[in-house]
Amino acid sequence: MPIHVLPADLAAKIAAGEVIERPASVVKELIENALDAGAHDVRVEVRGGGQRLIRVADDGCGIPAEQAPLAFARHGTSKIESADDLFAIKTLGFRGEALPSIAAVARVTLITRAREETNGTLLKVENSQILTHQPHGAPRGTVVSVEDLFRSIPARLKFLKSPGAEAARIAELVNAYALAYPHVRFSLVNDGRLVFQTPGNARLYDVLIKVLGAETAREMIEIADENESTLSGYTSPPSIHRATRKTQYLFVNGRWIDDRALAHAVVEAYHTLLMVGRFPLFVVDLRVAPDAVDVNVHPTKAHVRFREPGEVYRVVQRAVRRALMANLSVPALGAEFGQGLEPPLPAAQPPERAPDSTTSAGEVNAMGPLPGPVSAPATANTILRPPSMPMLRVLGQIASTYIICEGPDGMYLVDQHAAHERVLYDNWAAASNRDNASQELLQPVTLNLDPTHWAIYEQEQAVLERAGFRIEPFGGQSVLLRAVPGALKHRDPRTALLEIFDATDEGGAPLREDAEARVIKTVCKSAAIKGGQVLSLEEMRALLRDLERSASPRTCPHGRPTMIQLNLAQVEREFGRRG
Ligand code: ADP
Ligand code: MG
Repeated sequence: MPIHVLPADLAAKIAAGEVIERPASVVKELIENALDAGAHDVRVEVRGGGQRLIRVADDGCGIPAEQAPLAFARHGTSKIESADDLFAIKTLGFRGEALPSIAAVARVTLITRAREETNGTLLKVENSQILTHQPHGAPRGTVVSVEDLFRSIPARLKFLKSPGAEAARIAELVNAYALAYPHVRFSLVNDGRLVFQTPGNARLYDVLIKVLGAETAREMIEIADENESTLSGYTSPPSIHRATRKTQYLFVNGRWIDDRALAHAVVEAYHTLLMVGRFPLFVVDLRVAPDAVDVNVHPTKAHVRFREPGEVYRVVQRAVRRALMANLSVPALGAEFGQGLEPPLPAAQPPERAPDSTTSAGEVNAMGPLPGPVSAPATANTILRPPSMPMLRVLGQIASTYIICEGPDGMYLVDQHAAHERVLYDNWAAASNRDNASQELLQPVTLNLDPTHWAIYEQEQAVLERAGFRIEPFGGQSVLLRAVPGALKHRDPRTALLEIFDATDEGGAPLREDAEARVIKTVCKSAAIKGGQVLSLEEMRALLRDLERSASPRTCPHGRPTMIQLNLAQVEREFGRRG
């Protein structure tokens, strides 16, 4: 193929690919424009997960009529003039790419009226072409409507998740911006329903209530740096934690950023206070001089580069640690003001490698009573044993996690968690156990769901119900939990349900095929004895007896092994008894 210059609309689509990845990216750019325009009221409306419609209305400065078309020109921006400006950016936008990119992949309608003008303007843009530009009555501010996103790019459409999942991402984003701008009133209407609204009264705590629910917000600990100038926000006490990092918000100069190292600095402040695999919730709002941070390092501006990263991490870690210690020292330790008890802080250095994001959800180390009698009446000798499970004699436990056994051909190590998961799952599958699958709670529990969890709840209600949950809507994104699966009756119902939501959300998409089996597997995982739990000999024997009855005793329902074996021949070789 000879070299040729691509037509403008195709070039525009290619460029759009960097900035506009999914509906939430459109919402992000439009909200940022509204905030840059000085809006105090930002209304977001979404239909069909944002694919059918995204509309963002603001009461900001508006765009003068004759400049409106320029807003859709590539590199059309009112925010910077020279290269010098690039290193002291005070606005969220500056690249002049968002509107042209959106207009390359959707139909856009802009209605705007500038502060100083009496008449408004209407502009329609499609396929990067301005189709209409005419006067139009409008209140001061700007409304941008984006319809049929990616209709002209079927390949992109294929990468989108379900409308519910895309709407959840949008809701996460609106939550984040509401937290970063407590003086701005945000509202989000999803498919005609008002799902989120903040008062815009400049109080971060009031936004926190909307995002986390009053119950959790009340427990959160306020954080600030020593001079209360660089850092403000909230962080969770060690008693509140999640299986994912989703409820961790970092803002730098009002910009929502994704910075693993910085998030890690916060988590490090919990050193020895949190279980492995559990994550604190936090909102950290950093203010630094505009020239102390380079924001021009990423097309969607989600990453930034600090001039002095080590210093920033230190400030964050110290502030969080101080707040945690002040909070802890009150009742728990009985020492005077808890001073001197402070465990040493790990050195505040940016980690060389971002911590592994796939740490599994609170398996290691989690505690709780042994859920229910593990054993049915011991009738082992009358049961036809499937050939895949040898007869095992329990010798003991190591690391409070593995059961050591002697078998017909050497030594076996049984993973107590995986084994119990298998037993619970098989119990479930047995028809006789279905009837009493649900356990009524003495005290129903209210939960304020985050947008992703809400999307899962809405989509999987029926499945959750069949699994034994009884959950009712309770206004806004709250639900009332009335009953849990019987297997979970010894667990804290709130924690257990959230764990199931988190596990269900693993791929970012709520469940699709085989939803019921997946929910039940997750319930079993959540109900099973954890690693790190000391078991009595009798409990271990009972667990193995139950495992023996399974048709597939060698794997847990997720397919991981329940046991490994060191056979006698190997042992003899190791000791040099055999060649
Ligand atoms: P950038 O934000 O990087 O400047 P955009 O493509 O997002 O680029 O927007 C182009 C220009 O259009 C902005 O610089 C601004 O002048 C104007 N604009 C866009 N949205 C709004 C809005 N909601 N209110 C006022 N002006 C806006
Ligand atoms: Mg912009």
